[in-house]
Amino acid sequence: MAYGDLVARVDFDMTRASSFSYNCHACKRCCRNKAIRVNPYEVLRLARRLGLSTTEFIERKTEAGGTVLRSAEDGNCVFLNEQGCSVHPDRPLACRIYPLARWVSAEGEESFGHLAPHPQTEGVYGNAGTVQDYLDQQVVEPYFRNSDRYGVLYDKMLAILEKADPHELDRRQDRRKEIDELPSGSVASAFMDIDSMVRTSLQDDPDKIVERHIKEVEKCLIWIDGEIMPAESIRDSEV
Ligand code: SF4
Repeated sequence: MAYGDLVARVDFDMTRASSFSYNCHACKRCCRNKAIRVNPYEVLRLARRLGLSTTEFIERKTEAGGTVLRSAEDGNCVFLNEQGCSVHPDRPLACRIYPLARWVSAEGEESFGHLAPHPQTEGVYGNAGTVQDYLDQQVVEPYFRNSDRYGVLYDKMLAILEKADPHELDRRQDRRKEIDELPSGSVASAFMDIDSMVRTSLQDDPDKIVERHIKEVEKCLIWIDGEIMPAESIRDSEV
């Protein structure tokens, strides 16, 4: 399945100090026909809320290799019910920050923008506070922190792949498409499935689990890096 990129048309022209407010009137329209992307931390939080391992959660509740929440036939998010979001305290970042989106540049500069609202949304936009006020209300900091940590890890993985093949960067779109087309419930990699790599208990602090998961993935990367011959050395050895 092809998933649209929700942030592709967003102007990231706001900072944390910019004027912003949004009052949700629970019309639930933002929980339909969307690809809610999740990272390993968000999978972990949702899995623990349901009393599942991340492996079970990915099998039962996700698509695209574990990177997108599953939707029902009618387009509703798998967690939407009559009352609203059934996993509200552990909802992913995209849902917390909605209708904003966040961008962090390669230089680490952060900016925010408005997503296009649903044409019939009952949410009320205003200027009664700031972006920072809204972020505080939505308790997003643990999500930003762990998203940034996995972003650093992802960049390390890419650097190693590029060392093996300098054209790897050009293939990112194709690789994303391959993952998006995986059958529902399959796991793209151990990167998404924390419980396949780290032994934990349901009570462990998610931040600490992420720390251990990242260390395990880094150990694998160090091993892979040691095994990889840079593409130019392979070519030289073939001459
Ligand atoms: S996780 Fe909850 S808030 Fe997010 S789309 Fe699903 S139902 Fe809506």
